[in-house]
Amino acid sequence: MVSKATQKMHDIGYVPPKETWTPIDEALYGVDTLFRLPKEKTDELRFNAIKHAFNYWYEESKWYHMYCNEFDFSPTSLKTYGDLDKVPLISHRFFKAYLEGQEFVNWLMNISINKVDRPKIKKQNPTMDDLIDVFADKGIMAVYSSGTSGRFSFIPKDQTTFMRSQYALGKMGISEMLEHWYDDSAYAYLCGPNPSKTNMWVGKVVKLMDDVYEDVQYAIDRQITTQLMRVSNGDIRGLSDAVMAAAMQLMGTSKKITGNVINWLEEREKAGDRVFIAEAPFIMRRVMDELEKQDRTFDFGEKGAIITGGGWKLHDTEEMPLKEFRDLAEKTLGIPHENNVDLYTMVESNWHALQCPEGHYLHLPPTLVYPMVLDENHNKMDWGETGRFAFIDHMANSYPGAMITGDMVTLLEECPACGRTGPVLEPNVRRMTGEEVRGCAEEMRKLMDDQTPELLHDLVCTPDRARMPMMLLDREEN
Ligand SMILES: [Zn+2]
Repeated sequence: MVSKATQKMHDIGYVPPKETWTPIDEALYGVDTLFRLPKEKTDELRFNAIKHAFNYWYEESKWYHMYCNEFDFSPTSLKTYGDLDKVPLISHRFFKAYLEGQEFVNWLMNISINKVDRPKIKKQNPTMDDLIDVFADKGIMAVYSSGTSGRFSFIPKDQTTFMRSQYALGKMGISEMLEHWYDDSAYAYLCGPNPSKTNMWVGKVVKLMDDVYEDVQYAIDRQITTQLMRVSNGDIRGLSDAVMAAAMQLMGTSKKITGNVINWLEEREKAGDRVFIAEAPFIMRRVMDELEKQDRTFDFGEKGAIITGGGWKLHDTEEMPLKEFRDLAEKTLGIPHENNVDLYTMVESNWHALQCPEGHYLHLPPTLVYPMVLDENHNKMDWGETGRFAFIDHMANSYPGAMITGDMVTLLEECPACGRTGPVLEPNVRRMTGEEVRGCAEEMRKLMDDQTPELLHDLVCTPDRARMPMMLLDREEN
């Protein structure tokens, strides 16, 4: 028996025909539930999917192949479940080590597994946004992080990768965590950019909302470009909420948005509609602060649900603790804690983690990701320990998805609060350290003028395991 939301995604064509499925698709589309499978079944589905994906990355990505050779690791090395810990991982910094202009095209084409024709660049000095558009025409989304460290991470995602990621989000969110709540007659307000008008991952990732709700309003319905992010990034680098806030200021829309959301809430309450509010918590917070100031409240109760987007606030030192945020939402909007959960996603991943309504732990979908926590020497740590987050993401079809992130997490074998199966992260995910990333960006800037910037960048600020691919890329011809 599949849920209403899963049925809906099937009906509107999110699921490829069954006869084309690989073990990767089996682990995603072939399961009735992500969080209630027996462990043996989960492990089997996941192992087969990773084996399939790794083989594909190894065969199709020249640089990853060479990188794996350095570790003496090949598809035949992946025999048992325990071998998953040895899959060569790539540092997230690797995806920041790009140059601009024509060099960016070479870099992205090198990283990408998909064989696309070299895009023709008509402009003399193309901006990053021009280049993003050119790749979009070739079927490659160059999606990027919110650039809070002063530099974006770019990942090439093809349609297959993106659709898997969209289905995963719907399956986790409205089909499982909020299954008790979801109804496609609900009205949605997206407190962020229109996903069709940005390639910034945290904005793009909620594209499926357009398909699963009666109506979707966007707080920011204009193009959000790297240029805009860069301008707004100016002096307040490091605070991702602040970055977005500054972007809104630039657009002169900040005040208007708060008013728009309040008007919308008013109409929806009058009509007795179900409401779904998603994404940037700082926009919602402004709305709720304004309501408090006006001494007004709404009472949506069970008719309301909120999913905040974790990626919007990872850097924000003045971030409101999520518990206080939920208290405020309950007080001003009448939306209960169980219908108010946080999403953790990043440009480097296609799976997502979502809080459970019961305990607000971040659940990792067990058939879709193999998570690890590493110490400073990149050795795997035990359950319950805090360290650098790494994972194997077999849904990545256009680049190798074995990643070491810049996030600090505590990984638990199971949720202390609910009966769902699979590992969870404690809700307080943090960037490793701001200084470290910033330092790297500074170095990058200096090295930009150098003859062999990739190589130097790599030696200066990339952790050991990521050195190889940069050096190899440097040697690649095209
Ligand atoms: Zn839980």
